[in-house]
Amino acid sequence: ERTVQRIAAGEVVERPASVVKELVENSLDAGASRVAVSVEAGGTEGIRVRDDGVGIPDDQLEAAVAEHATSKIGDIEDLDRGVATLGFRGEALYTVGAVSRLTVRSRPPDAQAGAEITVAGGDVGEVRPAGCPAGTTVEVDDLFYNTPAREKFLKRTATEFDHVNTVVTGYALANPDVAVSLEHDGRETFATEGNGDLRSAVLAVYGREVAESMIDVAWTPDGAEAGGVVDDAPVQRVTGLVSHPETTRSTREYLSTYVNGRYVTASALREATLAAYGGQLAPDRYPFAVLFVEVPAGDVDVNVHPRKLEVRFDEEPAVRDAVESAVEEALLDYGL
Ligand code: ADP
Ligand code: MG
Repeated sequence: ERTVQRIAAGEVVERPASVVKELVENSLDAGASRVAVSVEAGGTEGIRVRDDGVGIPDDQLEAAVAEHATSKIGDIEDLDRGVATLGFRGEALYTVGAVSRLTVRSRPPDAQAGAEITVAGGDVGEVRPAGCPAGTTVEVDDLFYNTPAREKFLKRTATEFDHVNTVVTGYALANPDVAVSLEHDGRETFATEGNGDLRSAVLAVYGREVAESMIDVAWTPDGAEAGGVVDDAPVQRVTGLVSHPETTRSTREYLSTYVNGRYVTASALREATLAAYGGQLAPDRYPFAVLFVEVPAGDVDVNVHPRKLEVRFDEEPAVRDAVESAVEEALLDYGL
């Protein structure tokens, strides 16, 4: 009851995209090399995330959907993990099960047979044998079906799908070594190869024109040997890809930023990226960017908005300078 109330207050599960985010993170945590996301009606009718990760043994399925169940407790202290599980801490499957019809079907690679468990509006069913490939499939149907005023939480299908697409794209670009695919109402939106190459992931997600316009960014602070670390530097590395100033869109949606491997948003990163282009962008046009920034773990505050991706930096001016220099140098090296 308490969970349903909290969810009803929009505190835990905000929308289909927040469910997708949690399920994809679980798949990545499980060491998957393939993550296939498929949604119906923007995720409002159905969400399915299938992976080929370590799986969940049948005798642990019940625990996985229970309150505060996590097999990752030791890691929560760790900042990187803290970002991953923030807002849930072993509650993702439990809270989703409280406000939908949730099925978790899984088989660890070395198990003979798979098993599944279903939770409907918080009622946990029996663990049953199920034929399935190695890995885990999580299905979420009829999100919010049992919450008062379901409509209040859900916008138009197209809006919900945009959010899902943004989230899955974010993880696909952050993990070029994982084959990530997205399907909406039975039609493939994109599928990355998982070959470890960022440019190839960009090609899959944004198409050939954008991929071909992308310029490499590789910045380290003064004094860094190749691949080395400069003690006390507020930014250790900025890498990724940015588009040619003529390959743009009319929204900032395609500026994807990552801090210490985590997908985040921070106005400092976006503004610094745009500043680097100087006057090269046409009015109200924005480039594509996929930028990975590495800072000392203690220097980034992930608690600004627990459910959102927003972060804040202790050394914000230094982070801005580093990102602006990184992109500026990349454009200069390219002859721009
Ligand atoms: P958390 O991720 O914070 O541990 P969740 O509610 O998201 O909490 O998941 C509960 C547990 O279920 C996880 O700790 C993990 O053991 C298991 N689990 C969930 N999804 C998967 C998956 N895709 N593959 C393997 N194990 C999973
Ligand atoms: Mg989780």
